[in-house]
Amino acid sequence: MKPFKYVVIISAFLSLPFIVATNLSAGSGEQGHSIHWSYEGEYGPEHWGEIKNDYCKCKAGDSQSPVGISITEKAPLDNIYFNYYSTPLKIINNGHTIQINYGKGSSISIGNKQYELLQFHFHNPSEHRINGQSYPMEAHFVHRGEDGKLAVVGVLMEEGKSNDFIRTLWNNLPKEEGKEHVVTDVKINANQLMPKNTNYYNYSGSLTTPPCSEIVNWIVLKTPVEISKAQVDRFTSIFKKSARPIQPLNGRIVKESK
Ligand SMILES: [Zn+2]
Repeated sequence: MKPFKYVVIISAFLSLPFIVATNLSAGSGEQGHSIHWSYEGEYGPEHWGEIKNDYCKCKAGDSQSPVGISITEKAPLDNIYFNYYSTPLKIINNGHTIQINYGKGSSISIGNKQYELLQFHFHNPSEHRINGQSYPMEAHFVHRGEDGKLAVVGVLMEEGKSNDFIRTLWNNLPKEEGKEHVVTDVKINANQLMPKNTNYYNYSGSLTTPPCSEIVNWIVLKTPVEISKAQVDRFTSIFKKSARPIQPLNGRIVKESK
């Protein structure tokens, strides 16, 4: 293990300015970024837990995400209310995905809890699998509650018609990594990517990227939205693969809206 540690130290030193620059605009956790992990190879998902102590949950956690959803418990889950407002487009290529940082004041409510929308981003292919099936892409809308816990809404994306909302985003893809682009003359509303039916699967899990913190109330919408093959290909041409493999449920129960 010794040589491995030396490599990490050297690469940490070389890439420091990059990390500082991205953390300023991207924050931490699901919205964060560090050059030290990837989706394949030496720093891929099976090694995340060894990269540094802060990432230990990726290996030692017992409530990790994503998961495969097949056996569920039908339950009278609270409706989700989306209180999303339009915001100027703030878009960043953080090295792992395309992320859109959201202006303050948009939120969801579930029962008596409210969570503020921080950002959304994409994975290819989908991270969650439904009855063994993966989808071409999955969008994650990351919200934070007053207690610091997160509620992430997962929207599965299946191949079909061209998606107008995605067209707007892809028309403004940043050329370089690590810098947030504010496109003041383009306003977006995240509501536009939500399916009409917002019945969902619900379970307790983690961030699907390092540090894999187990602080997420996962809400995976049952109804996928459509995206064209060309739109998926455009994303895949930048990020070949951006999905963590499914993790064991370890006895967790996935609830499903009745
Ligand atoms: Zn995600």
